[in-house]
Amino acid sequence: MEGLGLILLGPPGSGKGTQAELFENRLGLKKISTGDILRDAIRKGTELGKLAKEHINRGELVPDDIVVALVEEALKKTSDGYILDGFPRTIEQAKRLDRILEKLGKKLDAAVLFAVPDEEIIKRLSARRVCPKCHAVYNMVTKPPKRDEICDICGTLLIMRDDDKPETVRRRIEVYRRDTEPLVDFYRDRGLLVEVKAVGDPEEVFNFIIGALKR
Ligand code: AMP
Repeated sequence: MEGLGLILLGPPGSGKGTQAELFENRLGLKKISTGDILRDAIRKGTELGKLAKEHINRGELVPDDIVVALVEEALKKTSDGYILDGFPRTIEQAKRLDRILEKLGKKLDAAVLFAVPDEEIIKRLSARRVCPKCHAVYNMVTKPPKRDEICDICGTLLIMRDDDKPETVRRRIEVYRRDTEPLVDFYRDRGLLVEVKAVGDPEEVFNFIIGALKR
């Protein structure tokens, strides 16, 4: 499974980040998460961060030109397989990804779609907590820290992501349906879509994806 090129598609809170991390740790695929890159820029207070923050905190997408450039730069640095978490999110991004991959001589093996009902998404995102220091991610229902709301790794008080507040979550879901969901047909038409039921334990979901990819 080394050397695979994968895209993870699915609504916010469907577990893409968790699975991307498992794929990176276990299969050595390079994880490229546009959300993580943008949040890092926000923390550092760079120009990119300032611009991204305005869009992210409203639950809107960051402009295509910006995220496409970030992904191109990251893909150029990968020598082997890659896993894209949260990109592409629009048809335009997907078309530009094609051109970048062609230029770099890389291939895309599958677009994995995470199917999760809306009620479950809202429940998961309202329970998500992150560590502001080491960026570990928890869920107060499915993956709580050992002590209260304290990070297991570095002992810092956990916080909620600004864009996980309920009104922003609703907007993110709307934006997903409008701008990102059309990608499902885009990849299905090319025979690259692999659909997985993304409910249950992350280990189970991981094994399910591996099984589906082998088929
Ligand atoms: P995520 O961590 O993937 O949920 O991303 C958090 C936020 O970052 C999104 O709600 C968007 O505002 C922004 N973002 C991440 N990836 C993209 C992308 N591919 N295109 C546009 N905006 C993005």
